[in-house]
Amino acid sequence: MTNGQRRVVVVGAGLIGLCCALALSRAGADVVVLDEASTLPPASWGNAGHIAIEQVSPLASPQALSAAAGRLFAWGGPLDFRWADVSAWGPWARRYLEACAPARFATGRDSLAKLLSDAIPAWRRLASALGSPELLKENGHWVVWESAKSAAAGMAAWDRAETGQAVLQPLDAWALDQIAQALKVRPAGGMRFMGTGQISDPGLALEALKRSVIDAGGEIRRAKVRRLFMDGGQARLALDEDVILQGDQIIIAAGVGSGRLLRDIGHAAPLVAERGYHIEGDAADWPKDAPPVVFEDRSMIVTRFGDRLRAASFVEFAHHESPPDRRKWARLEQHVRQLGLPLAPPVKRWSGSRPTLPDYLPAIGVSGRASNVIYAFGHQHLGLTLAATTGEMVAALASGDTPSPDISAFTIERFGQSAMRIAA
Ligand SMILES: Cc1cc2nc3c(=O)[nH]c(=O)nc-3n(C[C@H](O)[C@H](O)[C@H](O)COP(=O)(O)OP(=O)(O)OC[C@H]3O[C@@H](n4cnc5c(N)ncnc54)[C@H](O)[C@@H]3O)c2cc1C
Repeated sequence: MTNGQRRVVVVGAGLIGLCCALALSRAGADVVVLDEASTLPPASWGNAGHIAIEQVSPLASPQALSAAAGRLFAWGGPLDFRWADVSAWGPWARRYLEACAPARFATGRDSLAKLLSDAIPAWRRLASALGSPELLKENGHWVVWESAKSAAAGMAAWDRAETGQAVLQPLDAWALDQIAQALKVRPAGGMRFMGTGQISDPGLALEALKRSVIDAGGEIRRAKVRRLFMDGGQARLALDEDVILQGDQIIIAAGVGSGRLLRDIGHAAPLVAERGYHIEGDAADWPKDAPPVVFEDRSMIVTRFGDRLRAASFVEFAHHESPPDRRKWARLEQHVRQLGLPLAPPVKRWSGSRPTLPDYLPAIGVSGRASNVIYAFGHQHLGLTLAATTGEMVAALASGDTPSPDISAFTIERFGQSAMRIAA
């Protein structure tokens, strides 16, 4: 560390933490990233790789609420609430219902749309800074349906939907032929989304980010942050074995682990683990240039990463630490068999948690409790999409600048204060 350099401690080496760390290092800060590095790779590694700028409508919406019953796992859908884990999602669900009110939904959609509008340009800047422009593929994505009825209903629904800067049109016969050749059944119809994209491999993106943080003079350390506490008006970090760490600034970007840390200093941070599952196998003869394909009847997205093909699905409300539900992998394997998807052995299984707040908006801002704490978490289904833009915003906040677009809708203060005692 050189004289006058700000020392910044970033908690979390997922995509959000690493993007923050790199942007901060490039802005001249002395950065240390802490990650507990649990045995299971985080959501930043296991996601579907889709830069989903079309998802401007928060899932806390009147429409999502009315469709929920028909989407339950028990009826073949992707949505599951683990009863054994009701303590994890019960209080969250009450706040979710409130957030579905039409006026809150409309305000949230406007704020999210503005945030998403810079997601692809921010990824372009990031990929270029990483020296890996090939990480970002601006090839859109496809949505397909298996029956004429679901295709007609699905296309009509997308035609009515707000999709931000993404543009869509019916999928042409050439594209349908491409995937039909690799499937048992030809899709009955589809939509082509333009303006969206893909990260060529989330695991490679994480590695490239780690390398760049280190090249920029930063450090990545394996350590679990046990708690945040206040000391003389500033927050400090307590690590294992009573090691206390302080930074001029602390960035909380620990995915689902962020809620507990922020509650330590008095914020209500009603975060839930919205768990997803994927299976991944050899891509065999899946078309090399196909973008991510959503099989909407099955709520499953299929993405090619190099020689591997990944099929991902499910929204399971549970404790982050609960054992995975093997039935979900079995369901994914059944989809693969029924479609004839060329996802060949060796097949690997993964599950991980999306960090989700009740209104399906992220939390990005400076803590009103400890001015040296900046938080960036709660990116739900859009953490890969919004990682680059979030990093830039956090670097602006850390320099005392006002990020653009306005991020006041993402303040954690919107959830009030924690009922927990603030550690002195
Ligand atoms: C199946 C699935 C598919 C998805 N597909 C997409 C997609 O296509 N596009 C998209 O945009 N998003 C997608 N997402 C969502 C996206 O993956 C997440 O929003 C994103 O990864 C969140 O990143 P993060 O850095 O906040 O959290 P994480 O990736 O969870 O990283 C948090 C890190 O913090 C560390 N940590 C936590 N607590 C502590 C602590 N106390 N001390 C030290 N370290 C700690 C953890 O070890 C972890 O490494 C998907 C998610 C899932 C599950």
